[in-house]
Amino acid sequence: MDWIKRILGMKAKTGGGIPPAQRNPMALDLPNDPGATRVQRPKVRGKTPEQRAADLVEYHSQLQAKGRAIFERDRASARLAGSVKYRWRACSDSDVCPRCAKNNGRLFSWDTEPAGGHPGCSTDCPGGSCRCYAEPVLGR
Ligand SMILES: [Zn+2]
Ligand SMILES: [Zn+2]
Repeated sequence: MDWIKRILGMKAKTGGGIPPAQRNPMALDLPNDPGATRVQRPKVRGKTPEQRAADLVEYHSQLQAKGRAIFERDRASARLAGSVKYRWRACSDSDVCPRCAKNNGRLFSWDTEPAGGHPGCSTDCPGGSCRCYAEPVLGR
């Protein structure tokens, strides 16, 4: 019956929580690319502190899932190109945690997960999600 509501311009009720991921207009138009969507920040208006806290947990778990999917995508294409290592890249702003700052610029193996996780997949960054990425190293 959703089509009737669409025709009549009625909004489908989503049942709270955080809005679904939106397409990122800056992303390359590749089907199923994990980088092609943007996780939406949860709305805070009209929510109890408990709901806001739960939304934030959900928001960060979506960001972590996206970071992991992006890392897996990059690792798969880097391996195809013969890469065995990557260089850790952190955002160079004040929100980068000490561990990510320390790893920035260092070389890691695609195969060996460093303590705390690969870039973009870390779960113990204080902000709740890691914004780092792996830059493939080609050749030797
Ligand atoms: Zn971090
Ligand atoms: Zn990080």
